[in-house]
Amino acid sequence: MAARLIKGTEVAKEIREELKKEVEELKEKHGIEPGLVTILVGEDPASVSYVTAKQRTSKELGFYSIQDNQPVDISEEALLALIDKYNKDPKIHGILVQLPLPKHIDETKVLYAIDPKKDVDAFHPVNVGKLLIGEPDFLPCTPHGIWQLLIRSGVQIEGSEVVVVGRSNIVGKPIAAILMQKVPNANATVTVCHTRTKDMAFHTRRADILIVAAGRPKAITADMVKDGAVVIDVGVNRIGKTPEGKAILVGDVDFEEVKEKASAITPVPGGVGPMTITMLMFNTVKAAKLAAGVAK
Ligand code: NAP
Repeated sequence: MAARLIKGTEVAKEIREELKKEVEELKEKHGIEPGLVTILVGEDPASVSYVTAKQRTSKELGFYSIQDNQPVDISEEALLALIDKYNKDPKIHGILVQLPLPKHIDETKVLYAIDPKKDVDAFHPVNVGKLLIGEPDFLPCTPHGIWQLLIRSGVQIEGSEVVVVGRSNIVGKPIAAILMQKVPNANATVTVCHTRTKDMAFHTRRADILIVAAGRPKAITADMVKDGAVVIDVGVNRIGKTPEGKAILVGDVDFEEVKEKASAITPVPGGVGPMTITMLMFNTVKAAKLAAGVAK
């Protein structure tokens, strides 16, 4: 039987509608206008398109938003000074520096310079640590998006066996940290696999919920999946171009095979992807509420 599709495009739209209403209320009741700055260094086409999408969404939701474009040869010192300026700007609640940065700039130094209260990507060690001890202000956007997809699709998380393939700081580790927390809609038993895992299929076949963030097309085939599992495919792999020149994208899961075995599955594109920008907007609204002391 073919699996139910977990459509990130629809869930993202639902959350954006909720955020739009919340932004209107914040403006009316508290005079708060969430402010987001996206800093782009250079003109890498993929980065330009990500930043444009973030700006467009923030404007649609009624944010105060700034797109700050900097030349590719900006010095590290100048970029740090720019971040310091936005750290001090009371109209800005979220600072996003689009990665990757040019080689002459230390990415870690730049990310650590962002005020943790404005760190809407949640990459700063303060926010990483707060997540791990169960007291997060912000959750990183892609893992938070995955969590929302599971919750809003009615997937049973508590007590489930979750297997995560991939241990990156932006996806694998934080989604494991989120789903193992002692909070409602988490409380899962989590296993994390990586390239040194012995017999990965042994683990993936035990998964009630299988989350794959490896960056390898067809890393997961049907024989590695339990009947009725929920499969979340985070991977985005460009495997060529259409005759019209558009990139052909596939995930990390052999979708055609696995959809016949799983009970629910995310497509690529249209699964996890649309959730990431949406959760960035969620974090910016939360940052604005925290700054104003009106966060629940
Ligand atoms: P990453 O930093 O390259 O990490 C990949 C992880 O997968 C590593 O931990 C690696 O193990 C593990 N891995 C790779 N091949 C494997 C294999 N054959 N078996 C087991 N483990 C394997 O990647 P990432 O940043 O987490 O991203 C993963 C994928 O998600 C990429 O395709 C990326 O484009 C996509 N992504 C999508 C979104 C979105 O919004 N949809 C957001 C972020 C990322 P080791 O640690 O041992 O090397």
